[in-house]
Order: sequence, then C-alpha cells, then structure tokens
Amino acid sequence: MEYISTRGSAPALDFAGATLAGLASDGGLYVPRAWPRFSTSEIAAMAGLPYAELAQRIMQPFVGDSLSAERLLELTRVAYGRFAHKAVTPLEQFDEQHWLLELFHGPTLAFKDVALQLLGLLFEEFLARSDENLTIVGATSGDTGSAAIDAVAGRAKVDIFMLHPKGRVSEVQRRQMTTVLAPNVHNIAISGTFDDAQAMVKRMFNDPAMTGRFNIGAVNSINWARLMAQVVYYFAAALQLGAPHRPVAFAVPTGNFGDVFAGYVAAQMGLPVARLIVATNVNDILHRALSTGDYSTGTVTPTAAPSMDIQVSSNFERLLFDLAGRDGRALAAQMAGFEASSTMQLTNAQREGAAALFTSARAEPDDMSHAIRWAWENCGELIDPHTAIGLHAARASGLPREVPVVTLATAHPAKFRDAVERATGQRPSLPSRVGDLFEREERCVDLPGDYAAIAEYVAGRAVPKG
Ligand SMILES: *Cc1c(COP(=O)(O)O)cnc(C)c1O
Repeated sequence: MEYISTRGSAPALDFAGATLAGLASDGGLYVPRAWPRFSTSEIAAMAGLPYAELAQRIMQPFVGDSLSAERLLELTRVAYGRFAHKAVTPLEQFDEQHWLLELFHGPTLAFKDVALQLLGLLFEEFLARSDENLTIVGATSGDTGSAAIDAVAGRAKVDIFMLHPKGRVSEVQRRQMTTVLAPNVHNIAISGTFDDAQAMVKRMFNDPAMTGRFNIGAVNSINWARLMAQVVYYFAAALQLGAPHRPVAFAVPTGNFGDVFAGYVAAQMGLPVARLIVATNVNDILHRALSTGDYSTGTVTPTAAPSMDIQVSSNFERLLFDLAGRDGRALAAQMAGFEASSTMQLTNAQREGAAALFTSARAEPDDMSHAIRWAWENCGELIDPHTAIGLHAARASGLPREVPVVTLATAHPAKFRDAVERATGQRPSLPSRVGDLFEREERCVDLPGDYAAIAEYVAGRAVPKG
C-alpha cells in the first residue's frame, strides 16, 4: 500500500516510511492511496476472532509488504497482551439500544493505548532495519503523552520529547508522564494551551533546521498508523452486534478527529456504519463545522474533559481531502487559507459528503454531569467525563430503536476521578496496574510557549541523523 499526502506534493511512501515520517513534508497528512475493501462474506468470517487476530486481518491491507502476516500477528499479540481485559476492548450494555465500548484497559487507562502500544513496536521494528534514530516530538492534552511514553520508554533508537500545557492536564495524567524516568523520555511543560503545543510540533516538522538534522517522528494522531489501529475496534464492536448484517452507530467523544475518522475508515472498508456521532464539549469547532460548514477557531475553554479542549482538529483534514475528490492542490489552498485566517468554509461537496455519515452534538458541562449520573444510577457504570459527552450525544441522537448505538469509552473513570466524584459522589479507584503512581519521583522541565526555546531544547538532546 502506498501513502500520499493530503496536500499533494510530498513523495508517496510505503507503510514503514509513512509510520516513521508522521507528518508529510508538504505539511499534509498521509492517507492510503485507496481504501481497501472487505466483502460482506469476508467481514462475516471475522466474527469471533480473538482481538489480536482480528487486528492483523484488518490492518494487513494497510501494512502491505512492510510486514509479513506472521510478523504483524506477533506484534499485535504483544501489543494487546498488555491489556488488562481478555477481550481487549469489551462491550457493555447500557439499555436496549445503548452500548459502551471500553477502550481503557491498556496500561495508561485511555484509548490511546490501543494504537500506541502497537506503534511503539512498529517504530522498533522499522528502526531495527535502518541505521537511523528517531526523535519523536509530540503535543498532548494528557492521554497521548502518557500512552506514548509508556509505549516507547526504554526502547532502542528512539527519544521522545512530549509537550503538555502546564497546569491543564489532570494529576494522574501528568504523573503517568513525568514519573517515567527512562533516559529516552523528555517531558516539557509549556505555558499555553494544547493548540499552542500542537502548533509548535507541526512547525518543527516543517522546519528544515530541525528536519535536516534529525529524523523527527510523530505519535500524535497525525501518524497514520495510529488511526489504522483504531479501525479495528469498530469492527470488533459491530461484529458483536450483528454486523455485517446489521448497521451499527457509534458516538465518539472527539478532539483531534482521529478516533472518529477511524470509524469513517471502517465504513469505507465495508463495515455497515449507520451513523458516526461526533460529540464535542463547549470547544465545538467540529460541531459547528459539521452543522453549519463553518470551520473557524475560537478560544479554548478548559473543561472537565481536557482531551477534547481543542480548537484545531488535525485529522479533519483527512476527511476534507477524501470528500473533495482527493484533490491535494485544492486542499493545500483551502488549508493555507485556514492557517492564515483561522477560518474556513467547507465546500458543498464536503458538507454533503460529511452529512451522509456524520452528525454532531455539543455537550454543555451540565449535560456531561447528567450523563455521568445517568450511567451510574441506571446502569451501575462509572464513566469518565469524555465518555459522558459521547453518551450524551448518543442518547440525544434520536436514531431508530433498532439501530444499536455504541458509545466509545475513551478513558477509565479513575483518570478523571474528581469530575466523576462531583457528579456521582463515588470516587473511582485506580486499577492496580498503575502501581504507586502518587509516590514516584517526577521529572519535567518548564519552558515558555516559544518555538525557538523548544527547538533549542530538543536539538541539544536528540541524536542527529546518521
Ligand atoms: C484523545 C482523547 C479524546 C479525543 O480523541 P481524538 O482522536 O483526538 O478525537 C477523547 N477522549 C479521551 C479520553 C482522549 O484521551
């Protein structure tokens, strides 16, 4: 499989190349040249497979010649063997129509582990074939950072520099990053928001002074391999609910549009997806874009669901590209306009294409706490604030009763226990797999939200190109 940039001018790469590159050199994002498609009978034959085997089947067409089927299966077995639940992503039932897909059984308690545990292994695999080192530079609103650090800590030939907005991640999230003392892990707290951190990371990918000296890699969902790994659980859930013979809807708490884009990919591959419900909090750029066609950034309001406190949704570009005839030149112009003015209007083709599969909803803080309470009082389930925003949107979606609606549970309730306790009076306990997180030593540097300072810090510590 070949990967092309959404902005049309970067060289096409194979899967290994796209995984190591992260962002394309023209500022675009890599996407497969075409969507692989499974027939109904191929999908039906996947029912009942163990998760690691299902993952290999779904991902093999994307991986192509970069890994043999045997090797890919070995890697998925290692990655998903670290999960605390045998089903990896178990499905729970709320009521006759609503289901919960628990994606938080990995080492750092958020769905990011599903993709990053595999990505850490892919980096190691592909770097072992070359003489090069990889310098991962990432921005996190909390969960990507902890999951990525867990996935690459101590691995050979990789350094990770992780930027988080100082004071805007939860204490559990911060400690999951800063208590990892492996020498290849570098935590940086910057003054500013997640969007500021993300903008600096993107700038580094396009800075020849950095890309000329270092192999800069990405663990954010701009990295295609992450989205690929997330496609798997859409299949896993839908197969359990009767796919391919019955369409299933998904409600997805959304920030950078990575998780829900994986649902779009599943639909392109032949999975019968009835609807993708994009759930946002008051940072609602995606809800505005999907409901009115206006993609304009506002200011970020900090909320109890910090992983969704985002005003620029990187992966939305992948959808806009696919919906606009895959015209990289036109998309590059559209994105350049957005980058200059912070505002962009979707074309009619983009609006209509999106409306065919996506709906959206915005949850106010009260909607979120009501949803947490509803899940607890009616179903005995404690859910985290992000998941609650998804559940609110699922229950407000008005889909016919015969369509099962799966809410993606993106974080363990213990990761955001203050908000859960405020809504229910119950304080979720941390699972034993996180160990003595609150006793461990922390290591992190504070830097100003200033690109030159960050570039200098990275350049002083990263391993240059061979
Ligand atoms: C990252 C994250 C999200 C948002 O996912 P995107 O792929 O960025 O849309 C939602 N909930 C939680 C808990 C997260 O960590």
